[in-house]
Parts: sequence; structure tokens; C-alpha cells
Amino acid sequence: MHYYTYNRDPIGFIDKAAMEQVFREGYENGLDILERGEGKVADYIPALAKADPKDFAICGMLINGDIIAQGDIDRRFSIQSISKVINLAVALRTYGVDEVFRHVMMEPSGDEFNSIIKLDTKNSLPFNPLINAGAIEVASMLVEKYTFEEMLQFARELCMDPSIELDEEVYRSEFETGNRNRAIAYLLQSKGVLLADPQKTVDLYFKMCSLSVSAKSLAGLGLVLACDGMNPFSRESLIRPGYVRCIKSIMFTCGLYDYSGEFGVDVGIPAKSGVGGGIMCAARVPMGIGLWGPALDEHGNSIASVRALEHISHRLHLHVFDYR
Ligand code: GLU
Repeated sequence: MHYYTYNRDPIGFIDKAAMEQVFREGYENGLDILERGEGKVADYIPALAKADPKDFAICGMLINGDIIAQGDIDRRFSIQSISKVINLAVALRTYGVDEVFRHVMMEPSGDEFNSIIKLDTKNSLPFNPLINAGAIEVASMLVEKYTFEEMLQFARELCMDPSIELDEEVYRSEFETGNRNRAIAYLLQSKGVLLADPQKTVDLYFKMCSLSVSAKSLAGLGLVLACDGMNPFSRESLIRPGYVRCIKSIMFTCGLYDYSGEFGVDVGIPAKSGVGGGIMCAARVPMGIGLWGPALDEHGNSIASVRALEHISHRLHLHVFDYR
């Protein structure tokens, strides 16, 4: 089987063995960084603090079902911020682009993901759906419309992974330590922007952050987005291509916290990361790439995964603005 990368020159068609080789090299680059002890696991909740910083896995998923695996791609961890993409997809499917972006903007914020400063002093609307304020606003559009079980079902469909469950331990910790997110919800309510009860809204937000996924589930979500919203195996359309274009654009500009600009220039793949160490990528092959390494860099992105993606993107010419 040969995969066409859209680059006629210099790679053109590459075969699976060549792709596997590139993934292996990327994985080894990531392991090298971990061997040097770089990166730190998130420690704001015990469930994340006890993660092993040396863990690392990469999964590539292609439209014919081929899987490229490095490390344990079935190990479960919490999805954290990557759930913001799922919430946004459901909101777009429910309300359409115009209505969703009447309540949240689509601009990179340049601030910490959980910052309140500009929201309080400059803007009424959150900057974008991938920072906490924006994701909480999006959750307020969904909480009266869907039960958590229905949202869980959406997550399973979009990740093509029926085994996704709520990690109760992570959820409890998120709930216990989530006062800053509650503050964001109440601030949005005080500005007349939040569309539902703050407590119920953050509860849905916490639960979605606490879904347990694997590198393979993230690759599945990345592949659906890479296929413009279609499950390539059942050929069912899950999200309209126009909505997917919007989601991938926002992932490209805002998906990796305050590293999104540099990642966009260097790696150039629409991606979203989470503090659980996951990164989900929609590559234009089309291919989904899911990575997991709980040791984070100073921006909150999996340090080994970013290093591996640099290599994989360069070698396979996956940058969206690579010459064709
Ligand atoms: N549960 C985390 C929070 O809301 C998610 C953070 C993240 O992954 O960026 O603070």
C-alpha cells in the first residue's frame, strides 16, 4: 500500500515501511529528551501528578485502517483540553458557525489557557473555544441540550473508540480543585454571556476533561478531522466539512497554548494538546496522529510529542503550507 502525501516532490508516494521508519525516528527523538529528564508532569491533581514522565506513545492511523504504533498506544489517560475540540464540534453541529461565534471569538489569546485578565478588563466574549473561558462558554451552550451520556457518546463516535469512559478519579479531582474554572464561569455569567447555570456548566466541562482516552483514540479523532468529518471506515459523515475547516483552523492558531505560533510555523499540523500529555493531530495525508507523553514543557505541551512531531512533519512533509 502506498500513501500519497500530496507532495509530488521530493517524497511523492511513500510506502508504509518508510512511514514506520520516520515514526520510529520521531519516537526515538522524543525518548532522548525524556532520558535527559526534561519535562515535568502536571501536578495540579494527584491523578496527573502520579503519571510516569518516561511514558511515551505515538499512534498514526490511516484511512485504510493501517496503524503505525510506537509505545503502548492503548494505555488510557485523561483527555483534558483536547475535549474542547469535541465540545466545539458538537456545538457547531447543533447551532452552526454563526450562532456559536456570536458567543465566543476565534482569536488566539496570547495569555495563559486559564487567564481571566482580558476577559475581565477588555473583552466580554472569550477569545476562542480552546482556552478555558471559551470552552466553558461552549459547554454552557450544550449543557441544557445534551446529557453527559449523550456527550460521551459523541466523543466515542468522533474518536471512533467505543471504550471511552469517564475517569471518576480524575473527575473528582477536577471538581475539587476547579475553583478557577468556576470563577471563569461566574465572571462570564456576571457579564451576561454565559448561557446556562455556572455550576452545571463547569460540571459538564470537568466531565469532558476527564474522559479516558488512548493515543489510538486521539489518532481516531485526528483521522475523522483529517477526513473532513467523515468516519472513513463506516463512511458516515459525523461533522460537516465546513465545520471541520473551522475547527482545524482554530486548532492551527490556538491548539498548543502559547506555543501555537511556533508550532504552526515549525510543525504546521492542526493539533490540540492537553495537560494529561495528549496531542491530537489531523494531518493532511489524510492521517490522524495521537501522541501521549505526560512530561510537559514550559508551555504545557507534551515535550516528547512535540519533538517527535517536528521530525515526523519535516520528513513526511505534513506542514499544511509545504510546497506541493
Ligand atoms: N482540566 C484542566 C483545566 O480546565 C484542563 C487543562 C488543559 O488540559 O489545558 O484546567
